[in-house]
Amino acid sequence: MSPARIERFSNFKQQNRLERSDLILVESAADVEFRLARELVVDLWKQGKIDMETVCDAQPMLKRNAIHCGAPIDENCPICEISQISYVAYVFGPRLPAHGRCVSSKGELKRLNSRKTKLSAYVIEVCSSCGWNHLVKIASLGGAQNYPS
Ligand SMILES: [Zn+2]
Repeated sequence: MSPARIERFSNFKQQNRLERSDLILVESAADVEFRLARELVVDLWKQGKIDMETVCDAQPMLKRNAIHCGAPIDENCPICEISQISYVAYVFGPRLPAHGRCVSSKGELKRLNSRKTKLSAYVIEVCSSCGWNHLVKIASLGGAQNYPS
């Protein structure tokens, strides 16, 4: 990785911590991989190697969840560059819907995290205007974990 790219990413890490989204606080090395995969997709789209229908394929329900349950972040959509993107968190595990529970508040996330069973949270960034969506991170909840307050 070039020094400029490392610096750019370092700035991203400082500015774009998920605390701002108030949903999933855990940071891990895997977050770097998701971010790099996202940048690759955006770069391929900018080069015309993949079309907009491919990168902006959010289902209507995902777009609605971005509006009603999402945590808006201070970043515009990398595709349409107009609308603000939101992070939408889905939690999967025992006694949750097969399609996951869309978490709409920090309190709900805390309650899920207090469960004894292990759960998985998938955080997706979504543009409700053009349908851009990309996985931001996967985090573990529940079990022996404690959610920082
Ligand atoms: Zn967009």
